[in-house]
Amino acid sequence: MSRSPSDSRIAARVRRIKPSPSSAAADRANELRRQGRDIVNLVVGEPDFDTPAHIRQAACAAIERGETRYTMSAGTPALRQAICDKLLRENGLGYKPGNVVVTCGAKHAIFNALSATLEPGDEVVIPAPYWVSYPDMVLACDGTPVVVACDEADGFRLTAAALEAAITPNTRWLLLNSPTNPTGAAYSAADLRALANVLLRHPQVLLMTDDIYEHIRFDGEALPHIVAIEPQLHERSVVINGVSKTYAMTGWRIGYAAGPADLIGAMETLQSQSTSNACTISQAAALAALQGDHGFLKDFVETYRQRRDRALALINAIPGLGCRTPGGAFYLFVNCSGLIGRTTPSGKQIDSDVDVALYLLDAEGVAMIPGSSYGVAPYFRMSIATSIEVIEEGCARIGRAVAALH
Ligand code: PMP
Repeated sequence: MSRSPSDSRIAARVRRIKPSPSSAAADRANELRRQGRDIVNLVVGEPDFDTPAHIRQAACAAIERGETRYTMSAGTPALRQAICDKLLRENGLGYKPGNVVVTCGAKHAIFNALSATLEPGDEVVIPAPYWVSYPDMVLACDGTPVVVACDEADGFRLTAAALEAAITPNTRWLLLNSPTNPTGAAYSAADLRALANVLLRHPQVLLMTDDIYEHIRFDGEALPHIVAIEPQLHERSVVINGVSKTYAMTGWRIGYAAGPADLIGAMETLQSQSTSNACTISQAAALAALQGDHGFLKDFVETYRQRRDRALALINAIPGLGCRTPGGAFYLFVNCSGLIGRTTPSGKQIDSDVDVALYLLDAEGVAMIPGSSYGVAPYFRMSIATSIEVIEEGCARIGRAVAALH
């Protein structure tokens, strides 16, 4: 079909989506700071630690060895083998290097998997609160997001009954993220068993697990993987992971997907015609990360735990706010229903969590993201991937702003 000059120059699949709200909120906070405002930034979704030294050194050594050219589209054989070793060692999942594709971050892996599989009308079940990018990625790939709200009383976890009710003959994927961004909800073995039982009844549904926060957990015991719990799901699951969060490597842009050969092969073909391989030097760094000493991780997680405990105590002491204890990741998802209907000192009524976020930014310079960006309201997400001092200052300001409401 030819397009007339008055038609949009932008494709419908891009007009359907919006920029990531977390990037937009981070940009706004940085812009206000640039203008001289004193901003406490509780938006950031990345570790504030430096990438561990042995990983940085591996990248420098790769450059010196001349590993600066293209690799195979799907990634270096060494890294793909190391990913297989990791999936077996840590998750009890058996894959061969041919079942693995290395991507430019986990985000890219999810996008490629959706792009390689979705036809118009295909539905993707997304439990809410969800990571902001899932619905828009589905839309960009011509699919239909089916958002399933998960109750706070259920720990923000998808129940088997809710999954069963959401599945239709058009369901293509279930997207499962544990621990979850933004709530920190972590699915137990029993939760996963119940979800697996539903999936077994619906063989047309593929399962995508986003395991990016798997190591940032506070309960101590290892979380089982749903595909290890139910091996029958192996042939229709794509496991997504990466090095961004565990190894403080967000800027290196290395993620990966493991799954059945046809799905992974399709993702590889797509990648060979779009990005080609993920950055060669970053692949060398990721190899060192997966194979190297993981001792630093205990310190990272312990630091997140101290911040979580401090932030929780401060937030839960503010009348009108409440937050469950997150089991993992590095965010608090704060219920702010107690502020709805109240009035700011300048006479504006707070009608939504967007109003709460705008008020906190305007009154006290605290930047965070409204819960409605994650598919449920009224909440806000506050990052704890920042120092205790910043957390304390942020909570003091939130407390002051809330106390000033009528
Ligand atoms: N999944 C979730 C749930 C995330 O929160 C993020 C990062 N914000 C990603 C995937 C993307 O990670 P990466 O940096 O590997 O693209």
